[in-house]
Amino acid sequence: MTESTYKSDATAGTLISLDGYAAEASPIRQQLFGLDSAALTALFQELGERPYRAKQLADALYRQRVTHLDQVTTLPQSLRDKLTAAGWEVGRPHIAESFRSIDGTERYLIQTGIQTVETVWMPEGDDGAEFSEENSTEASSPDATSSWRRATICVSSQIGCAVNCQFCLTAKLGLQRNLTPGEIAGQVVAVLDRHRVELNKSRVNLVFMGMGEPFLNYDNFMAAVRLLMDEVGIAAPRMTVSTSGIVPGILRFAQEKIRPKLAISLNAPNDEVREAIMPVNRKWNIAAVLDAVRTIPFRPRERVTFEYVMLGGITDQPEHAAEVIRLVRRANLPAMVNLIAWNPGPGIAFNSPTAESVAAFQQQLLAAGIQTYIRRPRGRDIYAACGQLKRTTEGAALAS
Ligand code: SAH
Ligand code: SF4
Repeated sequence: MTESTYKSDATAGTLISLDGYAAEASPIRQQLFGLDSAALTALFQELGERPYRAKQLADALYRQRVTHLDQVTTLPQSLRDKLTAAGWEVGRPHIAESFRSIDGTERYLIQTGIQTVETVWMPEGDDGAEFSEENSTEASSPDATSSWRRATICVSSQIGCAVNCQFCLTAKLGLQRNLTPGEIAGQVVAVLDRHRVELNKSRVNLVFMGMGEPFLNYDNFMAAVRLLMDEVGIAAPRMTVSTSGIVPGILRFAQEKIRPKLAISLNAPNDEVREAIMPVNRKWNIAAVLDAVRTIPFRPRERVTFEYVMLGGITDQPEHAAEVIRLVRRANLPAMVNLIAWNPGPGIAFNSPTAESVAAFQQQLLAAGIQTYIRRPRGRDIYAACGQLKRTTEGAALAS
């Protein structure tokens, strides 16, 4: 038998042997969802099939959003049977549980293997850097699930997180594991499917601000971005990735030809406070993060977003705003600031800032000529807001 292996993107570098695909199907199924057109073409070549068949399958997986091989009617039955016999299945992550907020936000527990991961749908949302640029004041539609005109999907990159920011509920889970490209992109496709989104008719933005630190799962994260761009059809400038400041990741990101926009979780006015609330600052301090961000060739009109979680009494005072102004000026970057009032969570001893202190902070930055937005909290009642993703099963459950 000839040596026949090929590299699967979905497993990020693992070699899957296709030898003996016609032998009895192995009990472990391989997921087609997550393979890009090139990987599917390689697979079909191994199976003795023509490349256009791989294109048909990619179209079915990513544009028609099939969940079973039976639904791929563009492929002959014999080929579908061959794939099944070889141990392949669609294997797209699916929504296991849903929770709906009074503001129209929905939070999903999405099944990825034996564990679930969280994804959030925000109709008419502004919970991300993307919308804040538009300075939208539009009210949410009364029935947000059926008459939304645009939406943001908040996507997870890992199950749990290793970074251990003191104010974040996800940190309490620790890092359970990295998600594969198929599991990251699959969250988006499952949610698009649920809402029957037609991408050419509606405006959907993605924010990689769910569970986990995308730049500590860099290869899989970027492979997912490429799947979402090339196969699903969402343009990179419609995506924003947020990092806690993982310098090697930012440096790699700067080299990408096509990439999402970037948000940096600054969250503090100086290194001392940042170190106390974000232990990662000991490894890469604010100056190191800013140096890395400066290596990015920004597109015309593109800006980096500094996210700033406001902790009552700790980071929300006028002297903190003054420090942030100096810091942003010294950074000498095309930048804007997103203020996020801290969202509470069980077992975390911080205070939310008052609405007045958030407004005053914004005014101070605006007066200094810094574009500053206040991010409206979404889905707090169902633990869907920033930093609240911990696979909580509280909240109004929906039939999924
Ligand atoms: N791990 C990445 C992306 C996910 S967190 C990062 O940290 O950037 C997304 C945003 O939510 C970050 O800006 C983070 O600082 C913020 N955040 C975390 N916990 C929060 C909380 N309890 N309230 C408000 N924002 C929070
Ligand atoms: Fe991880 Fe981001 Fe939460 Fe920090 S804020 S623990 S990096 S998810």
